[in-house]
Amino acid sequence: MILEVKNMSYYYKSQRDKLILDHVSYGFECGKLYAILGPSGSGKTTLLSLLAGLDVPIQGEICYDGKPITTKDLAEHRCHHISLVFQSYNLWTHMTVYENLAFGLKLRKIPKDQIRADIDKHLKLVSMSGFEKKYPTQLSGGQQQRIAIARSLLLKPSVLLLDEPFSALDAKIRQQMREELKKIQAELGITVVFVTHDQEEAMALSHRIVVMNKGKFEQVGTPTEVYDNPATKYVASFIGEMNFIEKDGKTIAVRPEDVAITSEPADIQGCVRTIMVLGHYVEVNVQCGDLVVKCFVDRDQSERLTPGDPVNLKFLKTHIF
Ligand code: ADP
Ligand code: MG
Repeated sequence: MILEVKNMSYYYKSQRDKLILDHVSYGFECGKLYAILGPSGSGKTTLLSLLAGLDVPIQGEICYDGKPITTKDLAEHRCHHISLVFQSYNLWTHMTVYENLAFGLKLRKIPKDQIRADIDKHLKLVSMSGFEKKYPTQLSGGQQQRIAIARSLLLKPSVLLLDEPFSALDAKIRQQMREELKKIQAELGITVVFVTHDQEEAMALSHRIVVMNKGKFEQVGTPTEVYDNPATKYVASFIGEMNFIEKDGKTIAVRPEDVAITSEPADIQGCVRTIMVLGHYVEVNVQCGDLVVKCFVDRDQSERLTPGDPVNLKFLKTHIF
C-alpha cells in the first residue's frame, strides 16, 4: 500500500455537526489508477485534499508507505510524495509554459541542464513539445491541462491526485485526454487517484473505482465488479443503466442488456412503447402496468417488433436489494 486511509472522518470547522467523510478506510496500491466516483457534494474534493496533506483528518489516519503522516510530516509529504492537480489548471499566466514547468524544479535547486532535459521529456510525454515559449492564455483548455499535469509529474511524485481533470473540456478532447492519462500512468507506473462524477470516465480509465455517497465509500472494486455486482442499490443506480422493479417489499434490479424479449411465458408482461435504434443496438421501452422497462436488443430482433405489440420479458440476471 502506498497510501492507506484508516477509519478516517472529517468535518469542516465551520460546521462540526456535518461529517463530510464518515469513517472511511481503504488502501491504495502502488502503480494503479483509481477513480473516485460520486455525485457533487459527496466529499470527493475533501478526500483528495486530505490525501494531498492539505489538511489532517479529525479522526483516523492516513499512512504513506506504511507510516502515519503526522502534522510534522505534512510539508514533506506535500513536497516530495504527492502532487495534486486542481480542476482549474492554476498555471501562472504571466509565465511561459517553460517557466511554469521550471518553477518547482528551480526551487529544488536542480541544475539548469537537467531542468531543460526533464522539461523536454515531460512535454513529449504529454504531447506538447514545441510549446515552451507560449503563454497559458495562448493554449486551449486541454493543452493547459496537459501542462498542469506535466508540471506535477516533473516533481516526480509517487502519487498523482487529479480533481475532475477533464470536466471543463469538450467531449472529444476529454476522450483524448483520458487516453493520454492512461498512457502516462502506464509509462511511469505511478499511482494515480482521479476524481470524477462521470461514471463512463471511471469505467473506461481506472483499475479500481471507489464509489462515494455522502462521505462514505459505498463500494470499491474493478470496473467490472462494480458494474456486474453492485453492492448497494445506490451503486446500481449510479453506474450504468438499471431497471428497478419493486416486488414483495424488495427491489429487483436488472440491466437493460439482461432483459430478453420473448413470446414464451416469462417474468413480466407488457406492451412495446417505443423502439429507438442507437447504432448497433436498439433500446426498446416496454410498458408493464405503471412501470416502463428498458431493454437493449439487437437490430434483428427489433425489426420484428412494432409499438403496441404485447411481449413477455425475461430477466436473465437480477440483483435483489
Ligand atoms: P465533491 O467534491 O464530491 O463535490 P466536496 O468535498 O467539495 O464534494 O464537498 C463535500 C461537502 O463539504 C459539501 O456538502 C460541501 O458543501 C462541503 N464543503 C466543502 N468545502 C467546504 C468548506 N471549505 N467549508 C465548509 N463546508 C465545505
Ligand atoms: Mg469536487
